[in-house]
Amino acid sequence: MPQYAEVILPLALPQNYTYAIPFDLVEEIAPGKRVIVQFGKRKLYTALVFSVHDNAPEGFQPKDIIEVEDKNPIVGPLQLKLWQWMADYYLCTMGEIMIAALPSGLKLESETVVLRNHLKKIEDSELNDNEFLIVEALTSQDALSIKEIGDITGFKNPLKLIHSLLGKRYIVLEEELKNGYRPVQKRLVRLANKYSGSGLSELFEELSRAPKQKDVLLAYFKLMGEASREDNDAPKPIVASKLLKASNSSDSSLKGLAEKGIFEIYYDQPEEDSKGGSTHDFYELNEHQQKAHSEIKQHFEDKDVCLLHGVTSSGKTEIYVRFIKEMLDQQKQVLYLVPEIALTTQLITRMRRYFGEHVLVFHSRFSDRERVETWLKLIENPETPYLVIGARSSLFLPFQNLGFVIVDEEHETSFKQFDPAPRYHARDTAILLASMSKAKVLLGSATPSIEAYTNALAGKFGLATMSKRHADLPMPEIQCVDLKRARNKKEMHGHFSHELVEEIKATLANKKQVILFQNRRGFSTMIQCQNCAHVNQCKNCDISLTYHKHIDMLRCHYCGYTRQVPSRCPACGSYEVKALGFGTEKLEDDLKLMIPEANIKRMDLDTTRKKNAYLNLITEFEDGEIDILIGTQMVTKGLDFENVALVGILNADSLLNFPDFRSHERAFQLMAQVAGRAGRKNQRGKVLIQTADPYHNIIRKVMDNAYDKMYEDERYERKNFKYPPYYRMVKLTLKHRDRQHLSNSAIALGKELRGVFGERILGPEFPLVARLRNFYQMEIILKFERSVSLNKAKESLLETINIFLSKNPDKKIQVIYDVDPM
Ligand code: ADP
Ligand code: ZN
Ligand code: ZN
Repeated sequence: MPQYAEVILPLALPQNYTYAIPFDLVEEIAPGKRVIVQFGKRKLYTALVFSVHDNAPEGFQPKDIIEVEDKNPIVGPLQLKLWQWMADYYLCTMGEIMIAALPSGLKLESETVVLRNHLKKIEDSELNDNEFLIVEALTSQDALSIKEIGDITGFKNPLKLIHSLLGKRYIVLEEELKNGYRPVQKRLVRLANKYSGSGLSELFEELSRAPKQKDVLLAYFKLMGEASREDNDAPKPIVASKLLKASNSSDSSLKGLAEKGIFEIYYDQPEEDSKGGSTHDFYELNEHQQKAHSEIKQHFEDKDVCLLHGVTSSGKTEIYVRFIKEMLDQQKQVLYLVPEIALTTQLITRMRRYFGEHVLVFHSRFSDRERVETWLKLIENPETPYLVIGARSSLFLPFQNLGFVIVDEEHETSFKQFDPAPRYHARDTAILLASMSKAKVLLGSATPSIEAYTNALAGKFGLATMSKRHADLPMPEIQCVDLKRARNKKEMHGHFSHELVEEIKATLANKKQVILFQNRRGFSTMIQCQNCAHVNQCKNCDISLTYHKHIDMLRCHYCGYTRQVPSRCPACGSYEVKALGFGTEKLEDDLKLMIPEANIKRMDLDTTRKKNAYLNLITEFEDGEIDILIGTQMVTKGLDFENVALVGILNADSLLNFPDFRSHERAFQLMAQVAGRAGRKNQRGKVLIQTADPYHNIIRKVMDNAYDKMYEDERYERKNFKYPPYYRMVKLTLKHRDRQHLSNSAIALGKELRGVFGERILGPEFPLVARLRNFYQMEIILKFERSVSLNKAKESLLETINIFLSKNPDKKIQVIYDVDPM
């Protein structure tokens, strides 16, 4: 009978901890179950059992486990194995992985704050006495930490009761409310029942004295006519704002019609409720798709991973759909990973149409409650064939029957978690997860990462290619605008070339939509004194502040620090302070002046902070309510809009001149992807790239759609200059508040490391932003051959660093590991 348990605490502790199993809990305890333990002074935590054993720890008396939370494990053996692999590979702790993996509702601790869910009425029969006490405490006080609840009720361990109350929806976690979760709703219009069919002439008669309302009604019938001509199974509902635009009227006319009982204004079902079990017929694959599909199948005979390289709009998704179908039919589960931002209603609706209730969605824009539910569904129905669509963290879900993994837009850098640990790459981790589950992996991209393509060419992955767009639609026509020339000839309107403005106007005149891409948000990139060149810097970071016009403030994009715009230069007192550079906000402003009749919206971090803002923008754009969408990288990701005819890239140079060995690869990917948003249906799209360097190698490759040539160049560079995928990299970031101390320590550590690794050590160097949130940082990079054992290298690295740190313990610098940094 096991007497001890190794548990993982949801903290960044370097190891697991041993607790004693009290006699009465022996039967209940098992790996993967949560237990409540005390750690530190009086603090309670939900910990996870990693293993049980009989080996008494030496030199200390372990504390008892207080309670077992679960009847059945909530994390399976496969997940624990994956966590262990991640901790070893990415040089992080199991606790850090537990924090990243489990939704908050599954890992409560004393500090967790809960609130009463006022939507849930108290039903006496549902609550036991103790639960009732807690609900009551939360009725008289708004928010309580779990520790406070313990104090008030006198319960030593309220965690179990809190779990139960969360399950019954009597309470919610505070962080959830902060997110302001609300389902998306569209305002829609329909004709009241009594008017549908007959009596239309009467209706018009009735409205003869209200010409504005009559206009709205006429526009309604026109839109209805268009909607039913489209080959949809049911005519699309009429969106209120679209109707108002079509009839050029105001909301009051619409309300007038509603008051007269002619129109009904209603809201569509929140997305999550429209699950509908009905499945839809699949498209018939075109010949290119068929070929790719059978090639992939062939590869899976002897390979576990296959890369699908298909140009934008070649119909990769339909191929995924085939594999998903086959897997679900075999009663297997499928994980469909997409970059966070690509999780639009578009994809989810498409999948729900095909796979109905099999679809589960999991990402950070969902409430914690929903994430917990998805987690428990997978635990409680281990055999049910689910299709899980999710962002990178969904690979932590407790799959027990995984048959297939799709990583769409495999090249996306957002698959890598930068901060905090675990600094993992979801594509690479997913490949490992799949191999542990004996599942196959399909990677897809129009612009594969150099890493994946190299593996494919080397035969490690299978490779299937689609170089034609669906329905033989031509690739968009790409043109360059020479910014230098345009400036010399005075043909610029602010940041817009004459050509771009004309193209935008022509596109709008054709009733088509425009996407404009600019890499920077905000209004200007910095405020500089014209007299002494002083730039306003963040007080916590070594970076210039960005001017944001809508709040009329300067803001740091790294730490969020904001301050007022100084009217005079803080250094020399001059009044000549000027905004330099430009961001999305500035573009939006300028364009609104140039084309006032267009509906222009901006999509960047600033406009999509609120829960549904992003989805709302996508929906409005999809419904044709927005004419021009200006955005940062967000507009480049996997969106499928039918009506976009023009894409403009405002400043390609800012993408190309970035000091990083991946900058050319990324610039190509970004431009090719954003260009791929143009002309996805019916008509060839057009792309205008503004650049001061129209003959730049990468720009030429984008114009020629020459991924292979770009790859060849990059491969050569990477090989010659010893970069991934030919070499491995581990990046160390050293941090300290004191610049001098950091620099001295870093140099000393660099020396020690060179003693072990020789020339394979680069640095230390200050990165582009040397100080972040008041911490100075320096980087050391370990770069080594693929032939060197990764484990051995990491072992020596950790050993050298740990010895170094223990030698001067009083002024410790912080060391952060990043394996395979991006
Ligand atoms: P990708 O993911 O390669 O960019 P998508 O899968 O989004 O491309 O397909 C582009 C468009 O073509 C979508 O609107 C999709 O519905 C349509 N499409 C793709 N394959 C087919 C097919 N076999 N039959 C009809 N339409 C298709
Ligand atoms: Zn000055
Ligand atoms: Zn800052």
